[in-house]
Amino acid sequence: MPGPVTNLLDGDRACFATLLADKPYRADQVFQWVFQKGARSIDAMTNLPLGLRESLARTAEIVYPDCITRQVSCDGTEKLAYRLNDGHVIESVLIPEEEHWTVCISTQAGCAMGCTFCCTAGMGFRRNLSHAEIVAQVLYPLQAFPDRRISNVVVMGMGEPLLNYAALLQAIRTLSDPLGPKISRRHITVSTCGIVPGIVRLGQDIEVGLAISLNATTDETRSLIMPVNRRYPLETLMQTLRDYPLPKRRRITFEYVLLDGINDSRDDARRLVKLLHGLRAKVNLIPFNPWPGSPYGAPQPAAVEGFEHELRDRHITVMRRREKGQDILAACGQLAGGKRYEQ
Ligand code: SAH
Repeated sequence: MPGPVTNLLDGDRACFATLLADKPYRADQVFQWVFQKGARSIDAMTNLPLGLRESLARTAEIVYPDCITRQVSCDGTEKLAYRLNDGHVIESVLIPEEEHWTVCISTQAGCAMGCTFCCTAGMGFRRNLSHAEIVAQVLYPLQAFPDRRISNVVVMGMGEPLLNYAALLQAIRTLSDPLGPKISRRHITVSTCGIVPGIVRLGQDIEVGLAISLNATTDETRSLIMPVNRRYPLETLMQTLRDYPLPKRRRITFEYVLLDGINDSRDDARRLVKLLHGLRAKVNLIPFNPWPGSPYGAPQPAAVEGFEHELRDRHITVMRRREKGQDILAACGQLAGGKRYEQ
């Protein structure tokens, strides 16, 4: 009787050790084949004895999601869409920087958070991604574009990573494993809308970059545009961040999407300065990226300038996120592949 077949892309170190119980050295080799050398079949693992390859092939396989489209923006940003085995479609973005590439990956098909400015929210929640589906979004471009230095990963694509916690944590461990693609944990950033228990757990479990999608400075406005704020209001969130075990020399990134006339006033900027008091923080200002049917407008350039100045005057580190990949709907908050392809 053939037993269930395991997708090796779903395995962690422990799973590989179990699968090759009496051969720890082989377990490491197989892990390395799958996550570092990009093997697409057990047959390709040429330094394993043939007998071992044959027995392994009876219980295990390597299954990637299908990369179904690749769109290239005029600024060099690329959006990749993957069809999952059950038909859902997710998107990742490859962002060229000066010396390297950053890949922005998804952790859920759709999203349950309902932020009113985000396109992904409009498709609703479909399901959590598996470990295999998360790491494949890094492994695939590494294999497809071997001459690109893909060194950074931001977990800022579709979905709320901290609501798919177990798979997220396992994926970070695999991506940073010395026998895996060796993405440094200093170069991995997890972005959350503010799931307080998840933030606490992440701080206890692993050292990676943390980004918070703040987007408003009063509970009233934040609850209006980010329903999660009703569950975890600003004071609770900011206290959690003050208690966060932040490694030396690291800072928490605060993402702030500027929505015309909603959260982009100088008063907002001043309140933001107050909120950040006592925190090692940097602010990433993101002028709203419109999507078809979006209820908000991009902020006036003068408002963006004013907001930025207000923060700089109070010595807060501010970065203005470039609106990369807008023409292919690959910029922040524009991912909704599932919806477009499923229709
Ligand atoms: N759920 C996670 C990660 C996905 S959102 C989180 O909330 O952090 C990634 C970032 O895109 C968030 O900071 C969000 O505020 C921003 N964003 C969403 N929609 C946007 C839009 N239309 N224009 C600009 N930024 C947007």
